[in-house]
Amino acid sequence: MTFEVCNEPGCEKTAVFSSNYCFKHSDNKEEISQSARTFIKENSIIKNLNFSGIELNNIDFSSKKILFSRFSHSSLQNCNFDKTDIISVFMDFSLLTNCSFKNSNIKLSVFGGSDFRKSIFEDTVLVFCNLLGANISDILFNNSDLSHSRFINSITTSILFYNCNLKKSVFNSIDFDKKSLKTSNCEDAIIVTYKKNNLKESEIIK
Ligand SMILES: [Zn+2]
Repeated sequence: MTFEVCNEPGCEKTAVFSSNYCFKHSDNKEEISQSARTFIKENSIIKNLNFSGIELNNIDFSSKKILFSRFSHSSLQNCNFDKTDIISVFMDFSLLTNCSFKNSNIKLSVFGGSDFRKSIFEDTVLVFCNLLGANISDILFNNSDLSHSRFINSITTSILFYNCNLKKSVFNSIDFDKKSLKTSNCEDAIIVTYKKNNLKESEIIK
């Protein structure tokens, strides 16, 4: 994944889709946003492209392949990612609220600092991903494989795992509820610190 650097002197960001500048330093923001939306709608494979900073709300990404691309600091609210392959993609510090990730296949991707509230994960593969500092509150992960993904410093209130694979998923500050404990392999997760610091590991897990 290599992108050209923004032409603005001193700026170290990468040039955004169809521009020689990053989105912030591009003059024609509206035009860039419009062409990005059109490109996404018309193409089933999105590869080696940088959409960082662009507002891309209400887009149907379902069944597309998103590969080696960047959507850092983008707004992706109300988007449909059902049956989407998301491989080696940066969606860090992005707004991903009210999105659907049913049956999607997400690997080796970065969602640090992103907001997933009210999004749906069902039969989702989300493996080897980094959700450092992401907001994953009020979410039900249903029948999903979350193995080897890292949820460090994520806000994990009201989070439920129904029938999930949590093998080597890394959490801190988590207090698994009874339903998660019964239906997922919470014992195979790696927990750095517990929410209830004064309880022993065995008291939380069992
Ligand atoms: Zn720039």
